[in-house]
Amino acid sequence: MSEFELLRSVPDGLFIGGSWRPALDGGTVDVSDPATGGVVKSVASASVTDGLAALDAACDAFPAWAATPARERGEVLRRAFDLLQQRKQQFALLMTIEMGKPLAEAHAEVAYGGEFLRWFGESATHVQGRYGANPEGTGRMVVTHHPVGPCYLITPWNFPLAMATRKIAPALAAGCTVVIKPAELTPLTTAYFATLLQDAGLPPGVLNVVTTDAPGAVSEAIIADPRLRKLSFTGSTPVGQQLLARAAGGVLRTSMELGGNAPFLVFEDADLARAVDGGMVAKFRNTGQACTAANRFLIHASVVEEFTERLTAQVDDLVVGRGTEPGVTIGPLIDDRAVSKTQELVGDALRRGATLLAGGAPIDGPGSFYPPTVLSDVPSTSALLRQEIFGPVVAVVPFTDEDEAVALANDTEYGLVSYVFTESLARGQRMVERLHTGMMGLNVGAVSNAAAPFGGWKQSGLGREGGAEGIHEYLETKYTLTSDPFA
Ligand code: NAP
Repeated sequence: MSEFELLRSVPDGLFIGGSWRPALDGGTVDVSDPATGGVVKSVASASVTDGLAALDAACDAFPAWAATPARERGEVLRRAFDLLQQRKQQFALLMTIEMGKPLAEAHAEVAYGGEFLRWFGESATHVQGRYGANPEGTGRMVVTHHPVGPCYLITPWNFPLAMATRKIAPALAAGCTVVIKPAELTPLTTAYFATLLQDAGLPPGVLNVVTTDAPGAVSEAIIADPRLRKLSFTGSTPVGQQLLARAAGGVLRTSMELGGNAPFLVFEDADLARAVDGGMVAKFRNTGQACTAANRFLIHASVVEEFTERLTAQVDDLVVGRGTEPGVTIGPLIDDRAVSKTQELVGDALRRGATLLAGGAPIDGPGSFYPPTVLSDVPSTSALLRQEIFGPVVAVVPFTDEDEAVALANDTEYGLVSYVFTESLARGQRMVERLHTGMMGLNVGAVSNAAAPFGGWKQSGLGREGGAEGIHEYLETKYTLTSDPFA
């Protein structure tokens, strides 16, 4: 299918109650290709009234979906998984067009995102309660799980498919109905995915999609509605903090997948070839635009020169360009604001005394391109050590002993993921105990997996997505005490 045909086949409306329709006030939002800067499609932009109509639909559909046997709910997800395999070329191309990631990475995201459909399709039938005598022996304790209710899901632009399936699949498996608000920059993948769920047999109103250029107002109205029971958000920590404050009004269940500032530690006993390969993945996947991206490369002083040299040699081999072009390994950043922010961070580090080994200045347009960049000896006062870079920039900081490495790694309000490279089992075990992150890669540069509990400590978030834990984010627990059956 050509790009033109694919874009034409993506709906441009809001998906509410099983049908596609324009926004009531006729509002639209333009979607651009970040590799060219050109608008590729205009889609409906929901007003507050549209957002509440989507919530109405989710509330109306909730009783029947919650009562649908778990096996049937799981079968819808399994059929969705199968359809995604059949349409993987289209989904990959669509993500490359609207988000910019190289086609090979878009295919990897289709594989990863699809696994949530398979995993939670299976999990739907594995939700189990408990039954047992109370300690006094005078009654029986029964613990059961129930869908939490209508949910509001907000997703970011960096993984347009996987961030959607990671929320939609467990919600549907648990028996919840949803309103999803994709990022305004990348709504097409979610709209296209909604058509796939329709084809998989999802009943009307169980999934509703509202794209909007007024995320604050639309979200505020939905979150304030007492019928909503759950908010699941993936995005930046500042927006997550605002949403948590709003959710407090209704004492909503919340899941928050927020920002990161991942330390990437290489000890003197590491296998350097493996560490460099891991660093390339941890840094340059998605052009550095991942919450799990390695942000601070903390390298033992005895190997820092060799590590940096080898990494820079691999960086020199990266190919920047539009993600659809053969051989391209680094796509554009999401927009020009991201390019400016990356340049500010790099400029700040250079002014403070960092050494530039590769890249270091934006690439002239068209498109929002920033080259892979390596900075060594980055001073501790540099902003890029404290903030999420969200761009293809390696910041190397040497350390001299394990205590210093741990102190540097933990010196952040974030706690999503850390990476550790060491050939010492004991040191690896100590790092598991000492690093304050929700996830850790030990001699690997990528940790995401549908079967794993993804999530962070500290200001990186609340709750877990994926794994055995994921479905419980969408379930309430009820305990019932029954009388003594023999009394
Ligand atoms: P963002 O600006 O926080 O936006 C995320 C989502 O929130 C988008 O859908 C956005 O809509 C919406 N939003 C923005 N302001 C809002 C408001 N006032 N009320 C309600 N919704 C609002 O983050 P981003 O730049 O898109 O994504 C990058 C961030 O996501 C990074 O910090 C990254 O670390 C984080 N992230 C975390 C994980 C994780 O699992 N921990 C995974 C991926 C990304 P609009 O698009 O319309 O602005």
